Amino acid sequence: MDFAYDEKTEDYRKRLLAFMDEYVYPAEEGFDEAYRGDWSPPPVIAELQARAKLAGLWNLFLPGEHGAGLTNLQYAPLAELTGRSPWIAPPALNCAAPDTGNMEVLAEFGSPEQRERWLRPLLDGTVRSAFAMTEPQVASSDATNIGTRIVREGDEYVITGRKFYISGAMNPQCRIFIVMGKTDPDAARHVQQSMILVPRDTPGLTVRRGMTVFGYDDGDHGGHAEMVFDGVRVPAANLIGEEGSGFAISQARLGPGRIHHCMRLLGMAERALELMCRRSLARTPFGKPLAEQGVVQEWIAESRVRIEQARLLVLKAAWLMDTVGNKGAHTEIQAIKIIVPSTAEWIIDKAIQAHGAAGVGQDTPLARLWSAARTLRLADGPDEVHKRSLARRELHRYRQA
Ligand SMILES: Cc1cc2nc3c(=O)[nH]c(=O)nc-3n(C[C@H](O)[C@H](O)[C@H](O)COP(=O)(O)OP(=O)(O)OC[C@H]3O[C@@H](n4cnc5c(N)ncnc54)[C@H](O)[C@@H]3O)c2cc1C
Repeated sequence: MDFAYDEKTEDYRKRLLAFMDEYVYPAEEGFDEAYRGDWSPPPVIAELQARAKLAGLWNLFLPGEHGAGLTNLQYAPLAELTGRSPWIAPPALNCAAPDTGNMEVLAEFGSPEQRERWLRPLLDGTVRSAFAMTEPQVASSDATNIGTRIVREGDEYVITGRKFYISGAMNPQCRIFIVMGKTDPDAARHVQQSMILVPRDTPGLTVRRGMTVFGYDDGDHGGHAEMVFDGVRVPAANLIGEEGSGFAISQARLGPGRIHHCMRLLGMAERALELMCRRSLARTPFGKPLAEQGVVQEWIAESRVRIEQARLLVLKAAWLMDTVGNKGAHTEIQAIKIIVPSTAEWIIDKAIQAHGAAGVGQDTPLARLWSAARTLRLADGPDEVHKRSLARRELHRYRQA
C-alpha cells in the first residue's frame, strides 16, 4: 500500500498551494464586506476564476473527457485544500456544489443537446445551476415521498410543486435547475421519479425567498431558495434520461457529491485545528498559555487523530470509486458521510472554545465553518438515514447466512 501522492497529484497540489497563498487567502480579507447583498458572489470570485483557468486549476472534480481527468484519489487532496476556504476556493476553481453534481449528471446522463446547451456553459463557469429535490411538505430524506408532479402533455412536461433549501438558486447567475419529481406515482417505489431541466426564466417558476442557515443567508454563494413550480411547461426533450430514472440518477449524483463534501470538510477541520493551535499558543489566561493546559492539548491531539482517521477513510472510499465504481464504494461513501461532518463539527467546536468570544464572531471563519459542518449532517442525507442504510446492509449478510 502506497500512501504517497503520485506525480500528477503532487504537481497539482504544489500549484494549488501556491494559488491558495497568492490569491485565495488574501481574498478572504474583505470578502464579507465586498458582498453586495444581491445573492451573487463578490466580484473577486470572477477574477479568481480567470486566474484559475490560466493556472490550469479548473474543473478538477470531473473525471473523464469533460474535466481535468483526475481520479477521485488524485482529486481528494486538492478538494481538501479548497475546503480550507470553502466560500472562495471551490467556486474559484469551478469545483463548487451543487454545480459539480449537476455537471456530473449532464456529463453522464444528458443528451448531446442538453450537454451542448447546459453542460458547456457550466464547464466554462459562465452560468450556475441548482438541484431541486427537497420539499417543505414531505420528509424528503426519503426521496420516494417527493410530491412534485411532472406530467407529460403532448411534446411538453408540466411541472407543479414546491421546493425549499435549493442551494445556489437565489443567485441570478443560476440559470438552470435540475428538478426531481414524479412522472408516475403508481409505478414501483423507485421508478416513480424523473429529473428534468427547467431554465430559470420559464413562466410559472417563482424563486420565492432565501432560507437561512443558523441565521446566515449564504448570499455570497447563492443562498438556499424556496421555489414554487406552478404549471411550469418545458419541452419533453428536457427530461434527463428516461421517465422513472430519477431515483437511480440521484443515487449516482449523490455518491461523488458526498465524497466531495467530505474531502472539503477535512480541509475545514485542518483550518480549524491550525487556528486552535495558533490561538492557544498566543492566549494566556491564569499565567500560562492555553497551549500548556492539558484540556487544550487533549483537544489538539484528539483533533489530529480524528482528522487522520477520517482522511484515511475518505481516501479508501475514493480509491474504491476509482477501482470498483461508485456502487462498489457505497458502504464507504455512507461511512464517510456519517463520520466526516461530525468529526469536522467536533474539531471546529473545540477551536471555537479555544478562541472564547472571538470564536463565535466575524473575525475568524470558525462560526461559519461550524454552521457549514453542522449543516452537512443534514444535507445530502441526514446521518440517521445513512446509518439506517449501512446497518441494513451489514445485517443483510447475516440474515442471508
Ligand atoms: C444548507 C442546506 C442546503 C441544502 N441544499 C439542498 C439542495 O441544494 N437541494 C435539495 O434538494 N435539498 C437541499 N437541502 C435539503 C436536504 O437535502 C434535506 O434537508 C435532507 O435531505 C433531509 O430532508 P428533510 O429536511 O425533509 O428532513 P426529513 O426527511 O423530514 O427528516 C428529518 C429528520 O428525521 C430523522 N430521520 C429521517 N429518517 C430517519 C430514520 N430512518 N431513522 C431515524 N431518524 C430519521 C433525521 O434526523 C432527519 O434529519 C439542503 C439542506 C440544507 C440544510
